[in-house]
Amino acid sequence: MYYCKRCVLPNTKPGLKIDNEGICSACRAVELKKTIDWSERSAKLHKICDGIRGKNKNGYDCLVPVSGGKDSIMQVYTMSQKYNLNVLAVNVVAHVQTVEGIENLNSMVENLGVDLITISVRPSTHKRIRKMALIKVGNPNYAEHRVVFAAVARSAYFYKIPLVVWGEDIGVEFGGNIDKDSLEDGDAKELINNDLFREIEFDSLISDASLNDELLFYKPPELNEIKNANIKSIYLGYYQWWDGIKHYKIAKTFGFKGRKSGPLPGNYLNYDNIDEKLCEVHLWLKFLKLGFWRPTDHTCYNIWNGYMNRPEAVEIVNSLQYDFPAYIEEFLEFHQISEDEFFRVAEGFRNKEIFVKKSNKWRLRNELT
Ligand SMILES: [Zn+2]
Repeated sequence: MYYCKRCVLPNTKPGLKIDNEGICSACRAVELKKTIDWSERSAKLHKICDGIRGKNKNGYDCLVPVSGGKDSIMQVYTMSQKYNLNVLAVNVVAHVQTVEGIENLNSMVENLGVDLITISVRPSTHKRIRKMALIKVGNPNYAEHRVVFAAVARSAYFYKIPLVVWGEDIGVEFGGNIDKDSLEDGDAKELINNDLFREIEFDSLISDASLNDELLFYKPPELNEIKNANIKSIYLGYYQWWDGIKHYKIAKTFGFKGRKSGPLPGNYLNYDNIDEKLCEVHLWLKFLKLGFWRPTDHTCYNIWNGYMNRPEAVEIVNSLQYDFPAYIEEFLEFHQISEDEFFRVAEGFRNKEIFVKKSNKWRLRNELT
């Protein structure tokens, strides 16, 4: 395991390449972003919007998936106020919500004046699928990601909404595997194949369960159905520079608030991904598999956007990465799994090539320096 010389990402990140100058593909993508003519990109998006505005008889021009987080508030603001489209916001309800998450979503609807539909999938099925994803691939939020993608695509299809606006392409922004169409014109139709889903096919994940009647919101319409309905999906990150800190500032003007009592264990930021409770343990499992989690993600955003230098990031990562995640009780309760069984499953995913026991504690063999 070794690290990029410019940010703090390790080479264990799937899809990341570190070149012979020691710089990772995410940092190279940032260099490339600086050469993009963003006003030309914005003009391109204006043209797309001009082509669809007011043409849908149901009234909505554009669908924006929202969590109530800073990025989704910025997306709704951008599409409704800057590009002047009639936006329908769609929220897939988190099963273990935080107070901040509920309040932020409420203020978004109130302050941006948009319609919101919420989709709650039945908990019994969701718990089963999350538990299968936990045990089989150590990736319980796979189920959430699947529902968000499929339910949003279904909603666009149902309401015949011509444009779906996703946030950033995680492969492009965070140095993962990149889909060619996304890179060339911000097309998000291949989102279902991105890194969040790469570990296992959905059908093989659920192969030992009989769930066929319960999966409407886990299965998106076929690509050709979406195409025939003239629904286009895009990443807004292709059309404007993606900067979480700027989004946080914009979101605050519409009532968004960070976590009142400060960052959670292992977190550097108090406003990233704060709407639900199950993602903390989910992301900590990534640490066991790949040797990095929240503190690396948070400090990398800051480096890429020019808010932090590498030595500061190194210090932060080293001081936070061995924290144990918050909300473990809620996680165990939700998945109906005992503490012993959870740790047995989690430790099964620990990558012994990168971890070693020192004074009875697991530590990375190659610490970040
Ligand atoms: Zn880098």
